[in-house]
Amino acid sequence: MDDCLFCRIVKKEIKSEIVFENDSVLIFKDINPKAPVHLLVIPKRHIADITEIDSLSAAESYEILSSISKTALELGLEKSGFRVVTNTGVGAGQSVAHLHFHILGKRDFAWPPG
Ligand code: AMP
Ligand code: ZN
Repeated sequence: MDDCLFCRIVKKEIKSEIVFENDSVLIFKDINPKAPVHLLVIPKRHIADITEIDSLSAAESYEILSSISKTALELGLEKSGFRVVTNTGVGAGQSVAHLHFHILGKRDFAWPPG
């Protein structure tokens, strides 16, 4: 989508700090980090949020989860614990309408989240 911020990041029209990329997934650093490690994991194909996941192929969905796991392990986030979050809808704090999973790590986390 031409007017979607994250689609423009996928097309490299907007710069980002990419930490992983393959055919279907991009992982880049959040511009306003809420933890010492704060990454965003997105499908390259635009869907608005998790409620549209069936628009992606099974392989694309798998790549999202697999790349989250691999990246977390590469950064050693499992040692102290990490969180994976997908805010869905304005009421939950979603500000960019392109599916994204936050990976947050290297600090303590409260439960339940606010
Ligand atoms: P959410 O509020 O859950 O929709 O998450 C959107 C995230 O995108 C926020 O944490 C923002 O800090 C982040 N963000 C917005 N613009 C950019 C950008 N240009 N590069 C990297 N992250 C961004
Ligand atoms: Zn998009």
